[in-house]
Order: sequence, then structure tokens, then C-alpha cells
Amino acid sequence: MICNSIKEGVNCIFMKKKGCSFNGGRCYPIVDSCDGCDIAEEFPTGIYCKSCAEPANKWSTGTCNLATHVKKENGITKNKLNPLKASKRSMHA
Ligand code: SF4
Repeated sequence: MICNSIKEGVNCIFMKKKGCSFNGGRCYPIVDSCDGCDIAEEFPTGIYCKSCAEPANKWSTGTCNLATHVKKENGITKNKLNPLKASKRSMHA
């Protein structure tokens, strides 16, 4: 159902006729590790993940499996470089 509370307009499995059925009747904002992920979106209520209700849980046992800003190479997780920082680094090299 379409959320009409925190992530208004987002189709969510937890939204029911009686309201949000997720833990505590709401979803939770992104955590620091989510910074840079394309799935995070800013809503009038704050910045939330469009794919999961509680981002802290996605990071509690390691890297979030849906994160778009982290890529895995040979099983090793690497954060993508910020292109702006990379270009500044190359200017100083
Ligand atoms: S997909 Fe994972 S990393 Fe991206 S915003 Fe959601 S919880 Fe955070």
C-alpha cells in the first residue's frame, strides 16, 4: 500500500488500511553508513531508505546488501570514491 505517513507516496509492504504495521508503527531514518546511497531519499519528515524500514538493522551484521555506494570485489567491501574528492586528489598528485 502507498504510505501516507513518514515516506508519503512510497509503496510499502508495511502500510496497511489501519496504518503502518512496522515495529512501533513507523519507519526509521537512515544511519551514517547510508550516506551516499541512491536508495536514500529526503522526505519532509527526514531522510529515509526507500527499500527498508529500519536501516540500522541492514548494517547491524555488516554491509547493507542493497547499498549502491559500496561495491564488493572478491568478497571485500569497498566504498566508492567520491568523484569530487578523487579529482581534487589527482590535482595534488
Ligand atoms: S539500501 Fe541500505 S545503505 Fe541504502 S539507504 Fe537503505 S539501508 Fe541505507
